[in-house]
Amino acid sequence: MSNVIHIFTGHPVDPETGVLPQPGECLTCFVHRMVGLGGCSDGLGWAEQYRLARARRAVTLTRRLTAQGARCDCDVVQEVWQPGPALWIRDLGSGTLQPPSALPPCAGVRGGSTKPCSLWVAGTSLAL
Ligand SMILES: [Zn+2]
Ligand SMILES: [Zn+2]
Repeated sequence: MSNVIHIFTGHPVDPETGVLPQPGECLTCFVHRMVGLGGCSDGLGWAEQYRLARARRAVTLTRRLTAQGARCDCDVVQEVWQPGPALWIRDLGSGTLQPPSALPPCAGVRGGSTKPCSLWVAGTSLAL
């Protein structure tokens, strides 16, 4: 399993923290955590990894994400979904809102779901 990830990222991923979704962890938190940990797969590799581990029947997942504008894992957590407005941090210097670098623990989803948890909002709905 870790060999697969190594091909994605060129970085070893800590086998303790793992390359698998944590119990109840949602797709979006997982992809965000993995991009932070191992880097983007330059595709939808982490999203597909989540699907294989958690939601095997969601065979159209990457196609759906692509249709929503995601070219790679970063887009999933920056374009398709974004952290809810309450999580953004106002930069005191410039007064602009910055996306949070770290997120609170996933709020959880039921097994088999490919929906994000309540930390996330659809990218198009977030007007800053
Ligand atoms: Zn990317
Ligand atoms: Zn989550």
